[in-house]
Amino acid sequence: MSFLSNRVQNLAESATIAMAEKSRALKAEGKDIISLSLGEPDFNVPDFVKNAAKKGIDDNFSKYMPVPGYLDLREAIANKFDRDNGLNYNANQIVVSTGAKQSLINVILALVNPGDEVIIPAPYWVTYYEQVRMAGGIPVVISTSIDDDFKMTATQLKNAITDKTKLMMFSNPCNPTGSSYTKDELKSLADVVADTPNFYVISDEIYEHINFVRKHESFAQFANVYDRTITVNGVSKAFAMTGYRLGYIGAPLEIAKACSKLQGQYTSGTCSIGQRAALAAVSADPSEIKFMIDAFAERRTLVHNLLKEIPGLKINEPEGAFYFFFDISSFFGKSYNGKTINTATELSLFLLDEGLIALVTGEAFGDDNCIRLSYAASEEILIEALKRIKETLAKLN
Ligand code: PLP
Repeated sequence: MSFLSNRVQNLAESATIAMAEKSRALKAEGKDIISLSLGEPDFNVPDFVKNAAKKGIDDNFSKYMPVPGYLDLREAIANKFDRDNGLNYNANQIVVSTGAKQSLINVILALVNPGDEVIIPAPYWVTYYEQVRMAGGIPVVISTSIDDDFKMTATQLKNAITDKTKLMMFSNPCNPTGSSYTKDELKSLADVVADTPNFYVISDEIYEHINFVRKHESFAQFANVYDRTITVNGVSKAFAMTGYRLGYIGAPLEIAKACSKLQGQYTSGTCSIGQRAALAAVSADPSEIKFMIDAFAERRTLVHNLLKEIPGLKINEPEGAFYFFFDISSFFGKSYNGKTINTATELSLFLLDEGLIALVTGEAFGDDNCIRLSYAASEEILIEALKRIKETLAKLN
């Protein structure tokens, strides 16, 4: 029997981090692995943000700060919500945390009692499911399909609601599928939420700027769900600031206060220097990061064209984020060197061992017919990676 708590024993390890570690270990053995497994922009942090971080050090931003974050940062985030999303939050409704990952667990711990149901449309970001379980909540998964661009419908949402439902959480644009909801689609979901008492929504909009087909739409824009929505965002994806660890929420005041109370007991305010850097980032005009979005758009076209040339894959065209999530189930039952592939996990391990290419199994995202490819890498690397995928899959018969 383990001395570790049931909580930690029941927790699944993050599959994306596990895959990254496995490919790092193989690289250390001298293997020439290409890893397209992590959701991390490959750009450097823009200079104006780096300079703000340096100035933060020189100006001695080194002491404890208010738990929900410096007031000027929270005001700047409130302005950003108004400027980019048409959402009206004041500084007291903003809580800054150690990454959007912490923002999410704060909200879950603030709202979910053991036994409460949390609706999660699949494919979902790996962490959602485990965070809900960590809080004693029961994940209720809505399955979607590549034929519908992995989007849930209002009817599916309605059918998943029970008298135990407390929360629904989704990312838009979505990790792992890149799908993004139109205003009409969100409105029909919002109407279902508004009709259900005591039902809240986490709208994770961390990929809002990486959105290629239309203006990003926020869930909280609809008056009938503004008081039920917690909008999660952060600087990791838009500003390539993954290591600065800074995320934030805009939320109904009572929920914001609850999140602040929670993090007052485990992290307090996030790193002071990260906050000074984030102040510069969120205050900047979004045109400052257009070069990254343009690069992602070009890579998306490149990868899409190369994936279309690989027999046996079913692909769609993602509208945002920097992922392809494609169906590989036509390879199930096929073999190489006496080993038969039966699952997405087995296929991703086969691609790693045989093709030296690290992708993430869809099983981690609640869809075991698919695999996720992150195209946050240079065109040169992507071309080589797609060549390896094509050649390795061709070995199966
Ligand atoms: N939400 C989604 C959908 C993500 O993909 C990620 C990172 O991969 C996060 C939240 C967490 O971001 P952060 O680096 O701010 O913790």
